[in-house]
Amino acid sequence: MNAITPSTLPDYNSWSDDEFRAEVRRFVEQNYPAEIRNPPKRLHWSENKPWYMILSRKGWLCPSWPRELGGMGLDPAKQIILIEEYERYGVARTNDHGIIMLGPLLIRYGTEEQKQKFLPAILSGEHVWCQGYSEPNSGSDLASLRTEAVLDGDTYIVNGQKTWCTLGTDANWIFLLVRTDKNAKKQEGISFLLVPMDTPGITVRPIVNIDRHDEFTEVFFDNVRVPAGNIVGEVNKGWSMAKALLGFERIFLGSPKQSAYALARLAQLADRMGIAEEPAFADDFARLRLDLEDLKALYGTFVARLKRGEGLPPDVSMLKILQSELFQRITDTMLEIGGENAGLFEPMEGNNELHPAGLFIQARPTTIYGGTNEIQRNIIAKNVLDMPG
Ligand SMILES: Cc1cc2nc3c(=O)[nH]c(=O)nc-3n(C[C@H](O)[C@H](O)[C@H](O)COP(=O)(O)OP(=O)(O)OC[C@H]3O[C@@H](n4cnc5c(N)ncnc54)[C@H](O)[C@@H]3O)c2cc1C
Repeated sequence: MNAITPSTLPDYNSWSDDEFRAEVRRFVEQNYPAEIRNPPKRLHWSENKPWYMILSRKGWLCPSWPRELGGMGLDPAKQIILIEEYERYGVARTNDHGIIMLGPLLIRYGTEEQKQKFLPAILSGEHVWCQGYSEPNSGSDLASLRTEAVLDGDTYIVNGQKTWCTLGTDANWIFLLVRTDKNAKKQEGISFLLVPMDTPGITVRPIVNIDRHDEFTEVFFDNVRVPAGNIVGEVNKGWSMAKALLGFERIFLGSPKQSAYALARLAQLADRMGIAEEPAFADDFARLRLDLEDLKALYGTFVARLKRGEGLPPDVSMLKILQSELFQRITDTMLEIGGENAGLFEPMEGNNELHPAGLFIQARPTTIYGGTNEIQRNIIAKNVLDMPG
C-alpha cells in the first residue's frame, strides 16, 4: 500500500507568473512524448500512461491538491497558467477523473482512512477512475437518477445502470451517485459511493462514438455488493458534495484555448487551400478572430477574480457557452473550406494539425458535457437575470 508523501517541490505560488510559465514550458518541451502531441481524440490509458507517470514522478500530477497530500498546492491563477501551457503545446488529457474530480472531493469530505487509501493510489497511477453520474434518463436532470444502493448489514447492494462514462474501459474504480433514500426529496436521497470495477455483478459495455472511438461506456450493476465504508461524506448528502466542486470546472471548460487552437488550424487550412486572401473567407475569419478576442477578455476578468481570491459568480456560465459555440463555429468554417478533405476521418497529408473533420467532431460534444449550454442558459436566466425558473 502507498503512503501519502508530502510534496518537496518549490512553492510555485511565490514565483512570478512569467517565471512559472517559463518553467512549465521548459518542462513540457523536454519531457512530453512527441508521439501523443495534439492527439485528434481522447487517448486511452495505454496511450497516455507514460505522460501520467512522468507527471507523477515530477510531482506535477495534481496541481490543485494541497502539498501535504502530494499535490502541487497551486493557486487557481497558477493552475490556469499550467493549463494554458499544456494546451499551447498540445498536451493530451490523461485519465484525470481521480485527479480533478474524486481527489478534491475526498480531500474535502473523505475520512482519514479514505484519504490514506485512495489519494496515494491516484498519485501512483494504481487506481484509474471513471465517473458514474449520468443514466439513460438522468442527464441534465441528474437528481432524478435511479441507480439504487440498499443497505444490507455493513454492505450496500447496488442495482441500476450508468452511461456515458468516459474511458470506463480503462478504469479499475468508479465513483457513483446512487439513490439511498427513495422517499426523500430527489436531491436529498443521493449518496456518493466508491466501487471497484472488478466487483461481481458489474458489466461494462463500450459505446463507440461518431468518430469510431470507444471513448464511452455504459456500466450495469446487478446486485453489486459494496462495503458501506465506501460511502464518501454523509449518507444522502452526495448531491450537495458533488455540486460544491463544480466551480473550477466551469472556468476550465470556458478557457479560450480550444478555440484559439482551432482558429490557428483554420488559418493553416485556409493557406493550404489557397483561400486565405479571399474576401468572403477573410470576412468570416476576422469575425471569428474578434469573437475569440472578446472571449479571452471575458475569461481574463474571471481569472482576475480568482487571483484576487474571490469566488466565481453564476455568470461564469457565459464562458462555457461562448467558448463551446465559438469552437463549433470555427470548425464549421473548416468544413466549409476543407473541400473533400472535410470528409476524411484521417488527418490531411498525415499532418495532425490539418484535420478539419477531426476537430469538427471534437467540437460537437462541448455544448453537451459539463452541463449542456441550455442548462447554462437556464442558470444565467435564473441566477443572473432573476427570471422565473
Ligand atoms: C464527451 C462527453 C463526456 C461525458 N462524460 C461523462 C462521464 O464521464 N460520466 C457521466 O456520468 N456522464 C458523462 N457525460 C454525460 C453528460 O453529463 C450528459 O450528456 C449531459 O449531462 C446531458 O445529459 P443527456 O445526454 O442525458 O441529455 P438530456 O438531459 O436528455 O438533454 C437533451 C437535450 O434537452 C435539453 N434540456 C434538458 N433539460 C433542459 C431544461 N431544463 N431546459 C432546457 N433544455 C433542456 C438539453 O440541453 C439537451 O439539448 C458525458 C457527455 C459527453 C458529451
